[in-house]
Amino acid sequence: MSVPKPCRRCLLSEMNDDAANEIVKKGISDILDRDRCDEKVYGDRLSICRSCDNLLSGTCLSCGCYVEIRAAIKQGRCPERKW
Ligand code: SF4
Repeated sequence: MSVPKPCRRCLLSEMNDDAANEIVKKGISDILDRDRCDEKVYGDRLSICRSCDNLLSGTCLSCGCYVEIRAAIKQGRCPERKW
């Protein structure tokens, strides 16, 4: 089994890694509907993460979270207040 190379400004879902994709899917599906943000907000947040120097292989280096999961939470906040 090969370990994916770290990727600057990649989301987990873009890394062609089944295990990483499962983490994202499970993390998002565990969020209650009422606590999940809408698709527009989600896309806007991830767009900001994609242009952020703190993003490495889907992980925020500022707080250690998986951004695709944090961004899906309505009350989620960027630790650097970028969203
Ligand atoms: S959550 Fe904030 S600090 Fe972390 S990668 Fe996204 S924009 Fe950057």
